[in-house]
Amino acid sequence: MKLNIKNTFTSENPADSNLENSRRQVTEAVFSYANPKKTNAPKVLHISPEMASELNISEEETKSEFFKNIVTGNEIYPNTKPFAMCYGGHQFGNWAGQLGDGRAINLFEVQHQNKNWKVQLKGAGETPYSRTADGLAVLRSSVREYLCAEAMFHLGVATTRSLSLSLSGDDVLRDVLYDGNPAYEKGAIVSRISPSFLRFGNYEIFAARKDVKNLKVLVDYTIKHHFSHLGKPSKENYINFFKEVSERTLNMIIDWQRVGFVHGVMNTDNMSILGLTIDYGPYGWLEGFDFGWTPNTTDRQHKRYRYGNQPNIGLWNLYQLANALYPIIEEVEPLNAILEQYKIDFEHRSLRMMQSKLGLYTNHKDDLKLIQNLEDNLQLVETDMTIFFRNLANFDKVDKSNSLNIIENAFYNLDDISDEVKIQWNLWFDTYFQRLQMEFHTNEDRKEKMNAVNPKYVLRNYMSQLAIDEADKGNYDLIDELFQLLKKPYSEQPKNQKWFAKRPEWARNKVGCSMLSCSS
Ligand code: AMP
Ligand code: MG
Repeated sequence: MKLNIKNTFTSENPADSNLENSRRQVTEAVFSYANPKKTNAPKVLHISPEMASELNISEEETKSEFFKNIVTGNEIYPNTKPFAMCYGGHQFGNWAGQLGDGRAINLFEVQHQNKNWKVQLKGAGETPYSRTADGLAVLRSSVREYLCAEAMFHLGVATTRSLSLSLSGDDVLRDVLYDGNPAYEKGAIVSRISPSFLRFGNYEIFAARKDVKNLKVLVDYTIKHHFSHLGKPSKENYINFFKEVSERTLNMIIDWQRVGFVHGVMNTDNMSILGLTIDYGPYGWLEGFDFGWTPNTTDRQHKRYRYGNQPNIGLWNLYQLANALYPIIEEVEPLNAILEQYKIDFEHRSLRMMQSKLGLYTNHKDDLKLIQNLEDNLQLVETDMTIFFRNLANFDKVDKSNSLNIIENAFYNLDDISDEVKIQWNLWFDTYFQRLQMEFHTNEDRKEKMNAVNPKYVLRNYMSQLAIDEADKGNYDLIDELFQLLKKPYSEQPKNQKWFAKRPEWARNKVGCSMLSCSS
């Protein structure tokens, strides 16, 4: 396994001069050196062949002892120095001070085919940023991160990627429900990959400490390596940089809304500077369409990170980033203009996205109303988002007599479908029918286009949980089955029809299915 190792991040950013792996405040540094912890009985459970080849690792090599040892932290790749990054963040709306990679350790940077990838282990032991926790991760949360990152990529949503999922062979104590009943679970390690793991919080921490010098070093590094098309770092380009981060963040969130993904913990330390979905924790997928839904039990009361609020939170987080960048820009106006533009772009992009989900490719003045009425209808009774939109592609613009039947299997409880509900839906279908007459696409053309934006298969919460329960018993087949399924989320896969189904009743209130905790 011969990797083309680079050190741009560690050689161009200030390192923590303290080499001890002890928990502390780290100042004037972007990262601290820290080695992964050796584990008892490492075992690789799954590998993404696609990501291995992105790093120039052959299939043969992924089966080696050496690969296993690297992706579980038991061996360090020659001439590399693992490290943890220093960042802060706003958690649930409040400044939380220093957070940092408490259980993520960056192994190295690999350059291959003009791409530069950072390779990171999640759950490989403590770092100076571990605060009061152990730096470890459990199988449950690792399966979820591993599968979801790849699923999101294939859905066309910007995301970090997964390379491998492994057991550490050590047990980890966790109190899943935070109710004083901790239990041992299997420890696991995910190796994940991204062009960068930098977060809004990496910039915020320097601004909070009034360390403008190092803030500038990090921003200059970011522009040089990740936004080089903007040109040399300058005050003007700091503004352009912020503009692009704002646009990428919006793009990502519009895609989340399109596929029904709820991140669950949109703290600024979980916001990637590249606009990638990062840190898959208590995330969830909408089953019943519901703007008010959040999977995260910690957020149950205020629902700050609920589905319908994600675009607003994206903006709120960008305000925090704008504040952090202000010391090197020193002008409020251009930053405000970009934040204002986010709101305008959101309205526009959101409409476009919903039009595409409905198969509408021209603009009509009443489209917004049509969409709002649809969103109201979807919330009349519990209606499965994924099944609804997928089936809507079967709507016949020539004969509307069958409309309700098309979406019938999206309803969770047919007894809920009162005459009143039927009237509301028929009214909506009448308007939709008329609206479709203004489009020149045939039924077949429209269906093909709609099926390219409305996925058939998503990683429903109960699907992960089934894979986790099996894996806990030592059977990893379902992990692979879901991994393969989710490589083609927009395709009809007749053999996999069973995964195009509503959440089963047993999963309605089950921990891990509808309720996720941050304990991971
Ligand atoms: P999160 O919101 O889950 O992304 O995590 C917030 C912060 O807590 C980050 O700084 C994490 O590195 C840290 N953290 C979460 N879990 C652990 C853990 N088991 N050990 C050490 N640090 C952790
Ligand atoms: Mg995080």
